[in-house]
Amino acid sequence: MKKTILAAALAAMMSVPAFAADSADIVVIGSGGAGLSSAITATEKGAKVIVLEKMAFIGGNSNRSEGGMNAAGTKQQLADGVKDDSPDIFFMDTMRGGHYLNNPQLLHTLTTQAAGAEEWLLSLGANFCHRMGRGGGQTRARGHGPCDGSPVGIELMRVLSERADKDHIDIRVNNRVTEILTKGGKVSGVKVKTAKGVETINAKAVVLATGGFGANHKMVEKYRPELKGFSTTNQPGATGDGIVLAQKLGASLTDIEQIQIHPTVIKKNGALISESMRARGGILLNKNGKRFTNELLTRDVVSQNELKQPDGIGFLIVDDSIYKKNKMLRSYVSEKLMTKCDSVEDVAKLIGADPKVVKASFEQYWKAFDSKKDDLFGRPEMVIRLDQAPYYVAQVTPGIHHTMGGVTINPKAEVISKKTEKPIPGLFAAGEVTGGVHGGNRIGGNAVADIVTFGRISGQSAAAYVGK
Ligand SMILES: Cc1cc2nc3c(=O)[nH]c(=O)nc-3n(C[C@H](O)[C@H](O)[C@H](O)COP(=O)(O)OP(=O)(O)OC[C@H]3O[C@@H](n4cnc5c(N)ncnc54)[C@H](O)[C@@H]3O)c2cc1C
Repeated sequence: MKKTILAAALAAMMSVPAFAADSADIVVIGSGGAGLSSAITATEKGAKVIVLEKMAFIGGNSNRSEGGMNAAGTKQQLADGVKDDSPDIFFMDTMRGGHYLNNPQLLHTLTTQAAGAEEWLLSLGANFCHRMGRGGGQTRARGHGPCDGSPVGIELMRVLSERADKDHIDIRVNNRVTEILTKGGKVSGVKVKTAKGVETINAKAVVLATGGFGANHKMVEKYRPELKGFSTTNQPGATGDGIVLAQKLGASLTDIEQIQIHPTVIKKNGALISESMRARGGILLNKNGKRFTNELLTRDVVSQNELKQPDGIGFLIVDDSIYKKNKMLRSYVSEKLMTKCDSVEDVAKLIGADPKVVKASFEQYWKAFDSKKDDLFGRPEMVIRLDQAPYYVAQVTPGIHHTMGGVTINPKAEVISKKTEKPIPGLFAAGEVTGGVHGGNRIGGNAVADIVTFGRISGQSAAAYVGK
């Protein structure tokens, strides 16, 4: 009994510093992938860092990321036989996917450094493999994630939080930053709301890593009124605080109205069925049992095609060959997000469509697979024939997923002032809070690449700024 009490007391002492410091070299706001990548990198450079997180848990939307992390030219891609990818092809795919709105300098930074970021995660112990099958808008298979096909975010946050623990980084949950303070035009700290009240933490630099605003319906409607009533895949803390905090300091915003809807979201609870299900070979039917799109187009286009279908819904269908290999799909089924159907006829019954029409849709796809040519929609890659019953089916509709716009940064992750068009001294930002990397539409797998790449850059830049 005594031992248990001692262990509990020790654990409590370790998780909450006895005398919480009220100053640091750098304050990082947000504990998702960008925040922890930044904090770990700055700590490695010798800076004293405090991470503040408003929710009761760390990880933000990063916890939820599922499909993978893109990187071009990795060792794992080469080992899988993908020898013709490169940062240049990655750049062009992302530009095209983002409708050429992307900031070329930021994108160049991402596409040339993502492989290094993935390598860094491997060095921290991430159990990542290359994943076959290309996502929407990509001309090469460049996704990476856990080898058993489980969601990328859980493994990402596992390695980052373990490293942060090892480095004794001071991470404080239930700490909501309400203001960034300045002195003489330079960042000087933050005001933070805790259970005890409002506290001030002095810091020479602040890194905004507060994520996007996909869960702030008012803000979404402000910039895109037509998205009123859409469900969201985002965690409740994704409310755009960082954008408001930075604007008060005169930060410039980029592409703020660029908000992505994702075509495979379960309406009633906003649960996402990852795009990787289509990359692995899934198709979409409408409620009449007909295919209506090349499933590998970018999310914005597939979403628009889906909204044109009866009731704006689609049915995502995958087969047993994927189920056997993919842990994430098995969890969708066990969580009742997808329903098992023993045959094509059962699929028709579930959809409520004419079995003959559904059968014809499957036969068209089998023919396309056999001839390597999808006459109907020009799908460029069919990795499986989709003929291994049982099938797994989800009714889906577009939901708010990613906010591409945000605070303007340069390739050093310095936040740019609207007035001077120069960096605001001491203010840095990384991840979904920023704008410009993804342009008008984010390609699946590019956000995790973004948050780790720019998370590390922001940590390096902030550390250099404070003299480390
Ligand atoms: C369901 C889902 C699946 C996804 N799948 C993928 C995928 O497979 N591949 C991919 O590349 N991308 C994916 N994404 C996108 C990707 O997960 C996010 O873009 C990315 O994780 C954002 O990371 P971040 O560190 O910028 O923000 P987050 O991880 O959201 O972290 C921001 C943190 O800041 C905190 N915060 C906010 N305001 C304050 C404040 N005022 N004070 C203190 N803390 C604050 C938040 O609570 C949050 O914890 C997915 C997103 C979702 C929602």
